[in-house]
Amino acid sequence: MYNRRIPKGFKVKTGTVIREVDGLYISFTIEDKTVPVEVVEIQPTEQNSKGIDLGLIYYAVTSDGEFIEVPKFFRLSEHRLSKLQMRLAKKSKHSKPWKILKRKIAKLHQLIARQRLDWQFKLAYHLFSDCQVIFLEDLQIANLVRRCKAKLGDNGQFLPNGQSAKSGLNKSLQDAAFGQFVQVWEYVAWKLGKRIIKVDPKGTSQHCWECLNKVSKSLSERWHSCSKCGQELDRDYNSALLIQKIGLLSTQEEDITSVKTAVSFYLTEESRALP
Ligand SMILES: [Zn+2]
Repeated sequence: MYNRRIPKGFKVKTGTVIREVDGLYISFTIEDKTVPVEVVEIQPTEQNSKGIDLGLIYYAVTSDGEFIEVPKFFRLSEHRLSKLQMRLAKKSKHSKPWKILKRKIAKLHQLIARQRLDWQFKLAYHLFSDCQVIFLEDLQIANLVRRCKAKLGDNGQFLPNGQSAKSGLNKSLQDAAFGQFVQVWEYVAWKLGKRIIKVDPKGTSQHCWECLNKVSKSLSERWHSCSKCGQELDRDYNSALLIQKIGLLSTQEEDITSVKTAVSFYLTEESRALP
């Protein structure tokens, strides 16, 4: 049975057999020499781009003011999973009922992974539906400056850490799985001929998107209130707008690669006016 048919004109290059809980899968890489490899270089502008802040309270907040929540079905599946795991703990190891439950759990894990991937694809297409360029925090750099020191795995996935478990954020971290989402996003961008530009995330939650003034906040402070220019808005929304701004500036000014460099570029020399 095909998951997807091999498109006409494509040649199968390699095949990999993958064992999953419900059977064996074969993954092919295919090639069509008539498809040109194009490098897309769309120039970002304020109009054709948006900035996106990935977070825990909201999965994503966009610079055009969209707040995207983690879907409820993740929660429901995880709830079912923890119930099954509790039942499993009571069975004697390697007994027949233990084996049956073990298999059920593996299948549920697989279902959750597929639901997540499916949702991430839909979200990526949705976010690109009205823009050409997306500015995004570089998660590798982030190494979680402002997200209570979460640990990242080799693939950029979140690993459980004591602190997040304590504050009840563990589930959200797993649900979020930003590393995978960014990969999906990059694939979708390539498919649509659009662009993802990564921005240094340092300072994006602590500065004002409008005037770059530093507005320090602890992780629990959800509101951005700037005493210098009077901006009042949700902190993640402010971050999304700032990510877009820094992203745009970095494509226009060689000296700007981060909030810090933007601050020294604009705020230390009185002569320069912020765009
Ligand atoms: Zn301000």
